[in-house]
Amino acid sequence: MTSAYDLHCHSNASDGALSPAELVRRAADLGVAHLALTDHDTLAGIPQALTSARQLGIDFIPGVEISVTWEGQCFHILGLNLDPNSGPLRAGLAQLQQIRFERAARIAAQLEKHGLPGSLAEVQAMAGGGMITRTHFAHWLVARGYAASIAEGFERFLARGKPGYTFVRWAELEAALSWICAAGGVAVLAHPLRYGLTASKLRRFLSAFQSLGGKGIEVVCGQSTPAHIQTLADYARRYRLLGSVGSDFHDPNFAWIDLGRLASLPPGVTPVWEAFRPA
Ligand code: AMP
Ligand code: MN
Ligand code: MN
Ligand code: MN
Repeated sequence: MTSAYDLHCHSNASDGALSPAELVRRAADLGVAHLALTDHDTLAGIPQALTSARQLGIDFIPGVEISVTWEGQCFHILGLNLDPNSGPLRAGLAQLQQIRFERAARIAAQLEKHGLPGSLAEVQAMAGGGMITRTHFAHWLVARGYAASIAEGFERFLARGKPGYTFVRWAELEAALSWICAAGGVAVLAHPLRYGLTASKLRRFLSAFQSLGGKGIEVVCGQSTPAHIQTLADYARRYRLLGSVGSDFHDPNFAWIDLGRLASLPPGVTPVWEAFRPA
């Protein structure tokens, strides 16, 4: 079950394990023909991915996954098929990069207070100048023996309410949508069922998202069950949103999620890539 499209994945420009070139090669090897790179709040991996995609003859779609705060809750908005040189987009992401930089120092200080000192320099080295995410802290916790796995690192230290968690005000929804729009991209709500929202809050979000210019919803995600896909397809039809498919691949060591291992979109949902073609 390889999908020709995979429109959500990460390189080591954010919290992925592979370089952009390695990621594109893996996608090509697995039979993905159309790949979007969507690193967290950065476009830094795009030039290398594009070069590699040209060499391998696969269709590369520049993208990003933007962190947004709406009604006190973090949402991830994908910008797909955008111009990575757009000034407003780059300026907006620069603000988020600063927020991430400051948050990393706060997380490190909180971990230190909790008896786990010295993370900041090491996660900065791990990120190698790219975006620092909680995934980097989770890898650090495992490397130092404070957690047995990435999942446990999140559960014990990094998830909401845990010692290393710190509240962040990410971009406003309206701002993120305006940056994506300025860059000629298509805005898609990522993994809608992973925010732990009530159905009524998700519906309110989708209605705000749609009226502010949001165009799509991720209907097929890396670990979707058929029931999830049906639920999300219903939202797509109800809010007149295009359907996207994306694995949210991060790491070949997480063998349960791989590039392109995705079910197809249910009938009656218009694929988001129809919006990529010139009218
Ligand atoms: P951040 O945007 O820095 O808060 O980090 C969010 C990233 O952490 C997500 O994109 C996931 O890749 C990862 N993540 C969040 N929760 C978990 C979890 N429970 N287990 C593993 N990875 C997680
Ligand atoms: Mn991630
Ligand atoms: Mn996400
Ligand atoms: Mn993602």
